[in-house]
Amino acid sequence: MQLYGSLSLTGKGHATDKAVMLGLLGTDPVSFPIGNIQKEIDKINSENKLLLNSEKEIAFIPTEHIKFNRKFLEFHPNGITFTAQLKDGSKKSSTYYSIGGGFVVQKERKRAKKKIKEFQGFPFPIEKGTELLEYCAQENKSISEIVFQNELSLRTESQIKDQLKAIWNVMLDSMYIGCHTEGILPGGLNVVRRAYATHKKLAGDIPYNNSYEWIKAIRGTEVKFRQILKWVSCFALAVNEVNASLGRVVTAPTNGSAGVIPAVLMYYLVIENHDANMDDINKFLMVSAEIGSLFKKGATISAAMGGCQAEIGVSSAMAAGALTELMGGTPDQVLIAAEIAMEHHLGLTCDPIAGLVQIPCIERNTMGAIKAINACEMALDLSPEDVKIPIDKVIATMWETAKDMASKYKETSEGGLAVQVFMSDC
Ligand code: SF4
Repeated sequence: MQLYGSLSLTGKGHATDKAVMLGLLGTDPVSFPIGNIQKEIDKINSENKLLLNSEKEIAFIPTEHIKFNRKFLEFHPNGITFTAQLKDGSKKSSTYYSIGGGFVVQKERKRAKKKIKEFQGFPFPIEKGTELLEYCAQENKSISEIVFQNELSLRTESQIKDQLKAIWNVMLDSMYIGCHTEGILPGGLNVVRRAYATHKKLAGDIPYNNSYEWIKAIRGTEVKFRQILKWVSCFALAVNEVNASLGRVVTAPTNGSAGVIPAVLMYYLVIENHDANMDDINKFLMVSAEIGSLFKKGATISAAMGGCQAEIGVSSAMAAGALTELMGGTPDQVLIAAEIAMEHHLGLTCDPIAGLVQIPCIERNTMGAIKAINACEMALDLSPEDVKIPIDKVIATMWETAKDMASKYKETSEGGLAVQVFMSDC
């Protein structure tokens, strides 16, 4: 197996080798027990074999069979080629590309036709922000209502709600686990898990027994501006510390930026609206997903293509827009908030130290979350006539900036903080 480009250069820190081995085993990232990850990896390392797709035992020596290449493949900077030797000695190879947000494609885009057909079947096919706003105006619907109608063309109402609930439960668990786990993150940088101590100071001895009681308990704490900043940061830190320790998070739009959306949604639940319920959570998730999808279609959500503006910038825009709808903003204001959040992340580079998704990544999620809240508040005070930069223009600008950005700032750990700070300094 050959890893190429950014996938290879940050591969060890991002645990890509482990992820690929778990993938070969056929494990499901949604349900595989996190506590078994290291056990499975150790087993492969010690036995030099693995059970391919839980079906067929094959020889597999990780140090020999996983190759980290500096070379970039032309189609996308995150490339991976699998080669299998058949019984008759012949070899078969396939190359895949990880294009961001968990999406994996082949150059030939074999499934593209099916996707286009699905897209054409939507009552409201959307490529651009202008189209989304036109649908909202024409149908007199909010953005979440438009998204919901599109989703209904793919699955039933109860399936949509069940899946949104499952997403929210993972987000909530990642905040809860992160806030209640202390220690040092793996990887060698000796990064202290900070959510634990911050949470302890903020929460004091409020009583709760599970994550849902926790939400209610936090609502009862006294919050001024400083505490709000700390709570939001604490939620974001928690998720990304869970991510950095190979825990389960929701890709939103990526794992490195997975803390922004839960932190802003939790802000709404525990600070802004103590009566908020699952309907509000569903709306938030649908709006944020639509905004992420605008960026995916018009630019990129891959740091290997666009630097950190494509990760934290996009997550901040997603959260800002979603919060704005819950705060009573119009569809125009939702996209204004998303635009503001991205506008102030343009050009943000990706330079993780030692390839680990820790510094600057974990803290950067706190910044993305706070910026999203501020972008929402600013958008709520704006009229569309006063806006100079529509969302589609900021998306186009992000894409142009991505193309101009030097490769060393695009998830290679070959520039920025990654070359100023060394493992030995930590
Ligand atoms: S610097 Fe940003 S884009 Fe790069 S790995 Fe960290 S969070 Fe992801």
